[in-house]
Amino acid sequence: MTLKTIRLRKGKTESLKRFHPWIFSGAIESADPGIEEGDLVRVVDAAGNFLAIGHCQIGSIAVRVLSFAPCDIDRDFWTTRLAEAYALRRALHLAIANEEENNIFRLVHGEGDRLPGLVVDVYGRTAVMQAHTVGMHVCRREIAAALIEACEGRIGSVYYKSDTTLPFKAEVDRASGFLIGGDDACDTAVENRLRFHIDWLRGQKTGFFIDQRDNRSLLEHYARGRRVLNMFCYTGGFSVYALRGGAELVHSVDSSAKAIDLTNANVALNFPAVGTRHEAFAEDAFKFLEHAPEAYDLIILDPPAFAKHRGAIAQALKGYTRLNAIAFKKILPGGIIFTFSCSQAISKEQFRLAVFTAAAQSGRHVRILHQLHQPADHPVNIYHPEGEYLKGLVLQVE
Ligand code: SAH
Repeated sequence: MTLKTIRLRKGKTESLKRFHPWIFSGAIESADPGIEEGDLVRVVDAAGNFLAIGHCQIGSIAVRVLSFAPCDIDRDFWTTRLAEAYALRRALHLAIANEEENNIFRLVHGEGDRLPGLVVDVYGRTAVMQAHTVGMHVCRREIAAALIEACEGRIGSVYYKSDTTLPFKAEVDRASGFLIGGDDACDTAVENRLRFHIDWLRGQKTGFFIDQRDNRSLLEHYARGRRVLNMFCYTGGFSVYALRGGAELVHSVDSSAKAIDLTNANVALNFPAVGTRHEAFAEDAFKFLEHAPEAYDLIILDPPAFAKHRGAIAQALKGYTRLNAIAFKKILPGGIIFTFSCSQAISKEQFRLAVFTAAAQSGRHVRILHQLHQPADHPVNIYHPEGEYLKGLVLQVE
């Protein structure tokens, strides 16, 4: 099949030569007629020289590059890329044989795995796949089959869930469901020997926030004897780790009643005799913190992305400052704050400045103990710094 061609303007090829995988609409000189969202296209420079192959989309990012070398985007292509992704997770000791230790990991992290627009999370033997572009959506069945092949028997089922991640306006069939298998679907999975109910059908994203795994482990080491407040708890990941770490008390807060049910269920799954050591509250985090007693010496702030796009940055920074300022006001002397931002549009310098501003408002002495980020199964393509989205600080407050 001959691919339709997109020609770039003179002087607009620099970022591609540095392997950045996005082509912005402003760089395009001309396009063959009849190109539709999701089509595979060949990208050439003004002189007609080949530059890349990618998926076309409507919007400011016009093409997401799959390959900088001429090749066919066929079943072999998907299998090769997915096998590379799987080999990395094995090297990271995540896709390990001992599933009693851990059977949750991110197998594909979009641009970080040279598969822009595709996310795959693994729970037990089930892969949950999300397309963020129509191009990946169109290829979903071929990718699912390639996944099974690339993972050498490690995965039995592929569940597809892209209803909220596909471009809002795209007219495509958004139905979720199993593309392959379904019989061995797990409803609990294991992370660092802790068990979690995973609800990919109704849960947020693919059902669980895998990206906080390493940071939850770090928190466990700080928890002994502390009174912990886990804000924006979702499935209660940080709460369960804090309990295992020996926290004296853990309070979990989320505005979603469903998240509170999930948190209670996950705490009960791991600590059936927890009693009053854990309590969960379905409340707005800002209100809860404002009215909270000054009784906690370990506070976790892991809010949803306050800036979903660049236009929302200024407002979002104010939100981070406000949230952190209340935590600085409330935390006991000697206390520890784990504070995060998962907004891709906000840099770690901007986030740190927002937290600095909050600290200064409190007038307290604050020290940075750790600077946190996303784990290695959420790799950042060095040519695509936008892929670095999760940042966190561990602070000690006198
Ligand atoms: N810390 C979690 C992930 C947090 S996701 C983990 O480790 O898995 C963000 C959560 O914030 C969601 O569960 C969402 O329901 C909740 N949330 C959003 N706005 C909120 C608000 N104003 N107050 C409390 N919770 C909120």
